[in-house]
Amino acid sequence: MNHNTQPKASHFINGAYVEDTSGTPIDVIYPATGEVIARIYAATPAVVDQALDAARTAQVEWAKMSGTERGRILRRAADLLRERNYDLSVLETLDTGKPLQETLVADATSGADALEYFGGLAGSLTGEHIQLGGGDFVYTIREPLGVCVGIGAWNYPTQIACWKGAPALACGNTMVFKPSETTPLCTLKVAEILHEAGLPAGVYNVVQGMGEVGASLVTDPRVAKVSLTGSVLTGKKVYAAAAAQMKHVTMELGGKSPLIIFDDADLEDAVGGAILGNFYSTGQVCSNGTRVFVQKGIKTAFLKRLKERVEAAIIGDPMDKAVNFGPMVSAAQLAITLGYINKGVEEGATLVTGGAQLDRDGFYIQPTVFADVSDDMSIAIEEIFGPVMSVLEFEDEAEVIRRANATEYGLAGGVFTSDLTRGHRVIAALEAGSCYINTYNLAPVEAPFGGVKMSGVGRENSKQAVEHYSQMKSVYVAMGPVDAPF
Ligand code: NAD
Repeated sequence: MNHNTQPKASHFINGAYVEDTSGTPIDVIYPATGEVIARIYAATPAVVDQALDAARTAQVEWAKMSGTERGRILRRAADLLRERNYDLSVLETLDTGKPLQETLVADATSGADALEYFGGLAGSLTGEHIQLGGGDFVYTIREPLGVCVGIGAWNYPTQIACWKGAPALACGNTMVFKPSETTPLCTLKVAEILHEAGLPAGVYNVVQGMGEVGASLVTDPRVAKVSLTGSVLTGKKVYAAAAAQMKHVTMELGGKSPLIIFDDADLEDAVGGAILGNFYSTGQVCSNGTRVFVQKGIKTAFLKRLKERVEAAIIGDPMDKAVNFGPMVSAAQLAITLGYINKGVEEGATLVTGGAQLDRDGFYIQPTVFADVSDDMSIAIEEIFGPVMSVLEFEDEAEVIRRANATEYGLAGGVFTSDLTRGHRVIAALEAGSCYINTYNLAPVEAPFGGVKMSGVGRENSKQAVEHYSQMKSVYVAMGPVDAPF
């Protein structure tokens, strides 16, 4: 490995790297080769305590700064992320295995977008004035929540660290962030850059570890809010633990989202949308439209074109900028995906293309498409979180809406049609938080992002995120004498 990936230390606390090798060692594996490229150590209880203490102490002064001052630091950090985009993209590729072609445009850049957006918003966060009768009035004060905990998944480590950190810090909170143990490197860089941009020590801290470190953060009484990106299973545990102390939560969880393609859709766009919604990041995207409902009249043409385009994917070394489909993140995730492919075949779906692991080092698998999938097959019900697309046939609009909504999940949904009215009508009927018409999977910072049903609680990005990282104090001001009954 030519790149210097070994982080300066495992944790970033109170403005500096911190090491404690008495924690459980965690090897960082480059998914493209299976090589160990770095070693970090899980946080011990003492390290967790140090991070929470730093965050609590720093929060008082951070909240006293004006929003404009806080925002200036976040915007400076955004500029640094953009200046160093190439190196950060290489690191993201080493952490996750995603092709450099993607990481150059989707990771540090989207993290920078969040820092810029919330940095810009920080100076204009306000309460309101509410006029009452008799001259009395109420004003509201927008207050930070306090110490917020961020817990990340492994698919977008830089982006998740910024999507949670930027609105939290803009509102005057401090953060302790625990990245996924599978991709621990990128978040340390985010912390380093934030501090280089002028962030006071203790405002953004990173501790490493597995689920138990996350759990110890969630249950700590110093913590006011927890924002998790992860699976539904973890979400249930974290939500329940947070509820025991009445903490605020944001839950960005899994999905099994429907992508509906009507006969009148533009064929190339629909195929492109299905590819974007299933194979970007080697299929490891929470909002993927993995149940592709295709109307009967366009099905044959759709499958033919889809097969041609999927088979044109350039699979290989993710550091090669021509490659557009890299390895999966880990041996474990690859095994899960292969298991689902076997189930798909066993349960009677038709394998259109792909299905096999590649005979090379690293965690490579072909992009896979199943047709003739029925609603009761495992591959149509369960989140795979790998590059496996299920194509399901439908006849009419009412039927497809009913089938699309027949899932416990509700993260995203999309429709391809040239009928404007139908596009809006179908989206209005979908039980999903993040929806698309004639495109799929774009997540600009300006738009709210998040799910309904089991896919989550709260929203990230947009002005909505501010509501999830602040609370209102309401102050009644009397302008006349007090009218007491006795
Ligand atoms: P995961 O649930 O296994 O882990 C997520 C994080 O939670 C990790 O950092 C893990 O260490 C931590 N964790 C595990 N148990 C915990 C506990 N008891 N208490 C506190 N923290 C704990 O998920 P993953 O495998 O890392 O990521 C894949 C999942 O994340 C998929 O379901 C995917 O859909 C979802 N995801 C959702 C979004 C979204 O924005 N909605 C984005 C990316 C991924």
